[in-house]
Amino acid sequence: MQLAIPQQLRNFIDGQFSNPIEGKYIDNVNPATGKVYGQIPNSTAKDIECAVEAAKKAFPAWSVSTNEYRFTILNRIAELIDENLEALALAESNDNGKPLWLSKSVDIPRASSNFRFFATGIMHFAAESHSMEDKAINYTLRQPIGIVGCISPWNLPLYLFTWKIVPALAAGNCVIAKPSEVTPVSAYLLSEICKEAGLPNGVLNIVHGDGPNCGEAIVKHPMIKAISFTGSTRAGERIAAIAAPMFKKLSLELGGKNPNIIFADCDWDKMMKTTIRSSFSNQGQICLCGSRILIESSVYEKFKKEFVERVKKLSVGDPLNESLRQGAVVSKVHFDKVMHCIETAKQEGGTILCGGHAVHPEGRCAEGYFIEPTVIEGLGPSCKTNQEEIFGPVVTLQSFNTTEEALSLANATAYGLACTIWTQDISKANIVAGKMESGIVWVNCWLHRDLRTPFGGVKNSGVGREGGWDALRFFTEAKNVCIEF
Ligand code: NAD
Repeated sequence: MQLAIPQQLRNFIDGQFSNPIEGKYIDNVNPATGKVYGQIPNSTAKDIECAVEAAKKAFPAWSVSTNEYRFTILNRIAELIDENLEALALAESNDNGKPLWLSKSVDIPRASSNFRFFATGIMHFAAESHSMEDKAINYTLRQPIGIVGCISPWNLPLYLFTWKIVPALAAGNCVIAKPSEVTPVSAYLLSEICKEAGLPNGVLNIVHGDGPNCGEAIVKHPMIKAISFTGSTRAGERIAAIAAPMFKKLSLELGGKNPNIIFADCDWDKMMKTTIRSSFSNQGQICLCGSRILIESSVYEKFKKEFVERVKKLSVGDPLNESLRQGAVVSKVHFDKVMHCIETAKQEGGTILCGGHAVHPEGRCAEGYFIEPTVIEGLGPSCKTNQEEIFGPVVTLQSFNTTEEALSLANATAYGLACTIWTQDISKANIVAGKMESGIVWVNCWLHRDLRTPFGGVKNSGVGREGGWDALRFFTEAKNVCIEF
């Protein structure tokens, strides 16, 4: 198949491509050039209503289809993603500003892995039984919920979109999904792939639009019984306020302010190489990036010198130039936010060790949204810069003397998504891991992902876990059946 991106994207409802009913559109901007290069529907409650009607029609057959049937279709979609890797990666890079080499090597391969993983997962998914001594047995039925809503952010567009919709589909639900309005194109292309793969009409409905008009219409719809959301803590709070009184199932994957704890006894070279990645991959726009680097005081100066030298060498520019490391941040709004955070850090008394400025590449990217990788020191744990999520190429350095001090600095925010610990002392790593207030702990590594593991945060980083059986359990209702004999 040949994937083509129309100037005006269309919704994918009931297996058909349709324009938004109220005829409203949003400009789609390539952040590397700053130029509008298409339009996307700004759908409303009316489009969501059509999507729900389609899903209602599709649910009876899809929900009782065999696991093998769903496996075959989802696996076919994975194959088609792989076959169209180049086109999808280019679309993702143009939409998001991320380097093309990154979307080719990480984002798109991970989208097909998500399909394969949950396609095979549903073939092995099982529920418990509990036999009782007084002649009875209980068994648990794990049944699809019905129609579910999946809402995803812009930072890893197809990667996170598929991470949500595939377990929902595999478990037998029909889905109303909304990608971020900032990066809609790969989800649009996925709708073409789903049609080609023979996914029955109405099983997956991809509706484009912004948060207040389209996203909230999904959250508010009474027929949509569960919401899986990844995005900011602010939007998560709003979604919870709407969905909780309606008793919807909720999975919220929210913001972070992840600490990266570096002890003097770590494997220095591996730590240094990985810390560059964990700080600045995807321009620091990965929820798991470590934005607060905590360094044992005996090696603070050594770390600072070497880290800053390496960060200065990170090349920033055209995402399509595969020799450059860093691309554009996702939008003008986000560019302004990150630049404002850098100003705040200065006002708070922080010292900019490197970076801190916008980058203006020559040629086609002259008007794009590029920011130098930025390292800041001299700020305490309670300042805004160390408390609020920046979600850009900006990290701070702080030093600590004892393990207790490291822990207290690491846990000193309202967030609790992920942390990284660097030490060769495994018992110290275990103690620190146990006391970290976070859902994910990396020891001597970062972003080493096994899709079977529980993924999610604590505190203001979210509620619930995705991944592996957790995702399939979220997208099913447990029903206990007790038989006496
Ligand atoms: P965002 O909250 O602005 O938007 C995320 C999605 O929610 C978009 O599709 C948006 O249109 C929609 N949305 C916004 N307001 C809504 C509302 N009131 N009702 C329904 N839908 C609404 O987030 P973003 O700026 O796209 O993404 C960046 C954020 O996502 C960061 O905070 C980052 O930490 C977080 N994130 C978290 C994880 C994780 O796994 N915990 C992963 C990636 C990104």
